[in-house]
Amino acid sequence: MTPQEPQRLSPSLLARKILCVAYVPKPFGEEDRFRFQILHAFSMIKVIARHLRSGYRLTDIERRGNGYRIDLLFEAISTGRKRLDEVKSSRTIREVHRIQAALYATLPRHTNVDEIAVSNKETDEVLSSDFIERVQRQVQLTRQLIISDPMGAAIRYTPHEDCCYTCGNTACPFQVQTAAQRSEKA
Ligand code: SF4
Repeated sequence: MTPQEPQRLSPSLLARKILCVAYVPKPFGEEDRFRFQILHAFSMIKVIARHLRSGYRLTDIERRGNGYRIDLLFEAISTGRKRLDEVKSSRTIREVHRIQAALYATLPRHTNVDEIAVSNKETDEVLSSDFIERVQRQVQLTRQLIISDPMGAAIRYTPHEDCCYTCGNTACPFQVQTAAQRSEKA
């Protein structure tokens, strides 16, 4: 990995690297991608319906940029407060989802957003400004680590339940362990 690469990591990958800098994304198969898209679309509908019932209007949908995709932008009708909402298809909102959403706050095009939320079909979580600031500090530390010691970063294994199950780092002893446990259960 070259020193410039950390600047180009997508929010999704950077969020996982903040939790485990040795994380490598596992390839996504077509079947998995299709299933994910269906679940995600279903969650989007639920999140939109919930917000409309709670006094928001939907102002934008699925903005895409360099390595990222913002799901929904809402505006509270009574206050004009703008909420950027990252929709997840998973049953639970994980730490890695919050981190990923916090990273969107750093994108220049979101300077006019008042709050950032992560949602699934059940609930919405608004991120605190403390959490967003903490993530921004972690971003700097993670990028510095990758730039200053890329070889060390590649083997700095830090197991995390939000990362290991989607990790494709086959050199990691924790990955081998997780794969063994999966095949035992199968
Ligand atoms: S499997 Fe290893 S490299 Fe991958 S996230 Fe877990 S600890 Fe990190």
